[in-house]
Amino acid sequence: MDPMICGTCGNHPAFYRREYEGVALCKACFKTSIERRVKRTIGRWKMFEPNDHIAVAVSGGKDSLTMLMILKKLASRFPRTKLTAVTVDEGIAGYREEAVELAQNYTKKLDVAHEIVSFADIFGYGLDDFLRERSERLTACSYCGVFRRKAINLAARKVGATKIATAHNLDDVVQTYLLNLFQGDVDRFVRSSPVLRDSRGMFLTRVKPLCEVPEREIALYGYSEGLVFQSVSCPYMTEALRNELRSAVNKLEIAHPGVLYSSYRAMLRLRGLAEPGVPSSTLVPCSNCGEPASSELCEACRMVGARGTMLENPRPTLL
Ligand code: SF4
Ligand code: ZN
Ligand code: ZN
Repeated sequence: MDPMICGTCGNHPAFYRREYEGVALCKACFKTSIERRVKRTIGRWKMFEPNDHIAVAVSGGKDSLTMLMILKKLASRFPRTKLTAVTVDEGIAGYREEAVELAQNYTKKLDVAHEIVSFADIFGYGLDDFLRERSERLTACSYCGVFRRKAINLAARKVGATKIATAHNLDDVVQTYLLNLFQGDVDRFVRSSPVLRDSRGMFLTRVKPLCEVPEREIALYGYSEGLVFQSVSCPYMTEALRNELRSAVNKLEIAHPGVLYSSYRAMLRLRGLAEPGVPSSTLVPCSNCGEPASSELCEACRMVGARGTMLENPRPTLL
């Protein structure tokens, strides 16, 4: 086979060489292969029902915008499926404005309903302000992740969604597994999954439809669809261990194509062997806000309360 010609259709010039499969693909076959893979992931993990209302978490970055494009395409065959994009404005000056604008432009272009919520609306202050006055010394990403999860939950419930889709890709999932492993957090390691369901309905099912697509292929898909990427990075992006893992895993994948997939499969098997049971089995409603919590207060209320504001003067949430 001519390496310059697509190995799938045999007709068009190659656009991308997928090393881990040893195949070159033209643009059309590459895009079809990504859409098929997402569809297969959704089917394998039974992520959606035909009448689901899916809250698609759209940060405005390449992964989430690409996910929105692909889900919109796939959902067009299911007339009862509804999509609403949900964007959280964390209040990070010089970074979030561009992403929110991109999210607004693409949701309009794709004709998808869009709900924007902000940390300021929900918690009373944006991340920049919160970090200036925090009393605990966790990383910005630790606070941001917890607050964003809660903000997306609230926004998804507000729009009446039945599921939440997040744009974690294969690289993210493998990094998270490794991060939990290296930090000795076995509970989180075994709880990580492409689908998080709660049989008691305390939180909406969260799914990761892109979790079996490598990051570089998501970027390439977006690029081939003419997606404009965000130009600035988050000023707080300093999660040192994750960054080191990202670069180590990238190097390994280049030297040994396929290690990302094999480690992902191994981690799923380990998770299965651990039989973690229902992830929410120990959750109770937070005594301050009613969101799921593993102790009396949910993580977000504990973090905000540690600063001494929310518990004395609870802010109205979106609901
Ligand atoms: Fe939030 Fe960290 Fe992401 Fe910045 S890099 S948006 S602080 S999670
Ligand atoms: Zn082709
Ligand atoms: Zn709470």
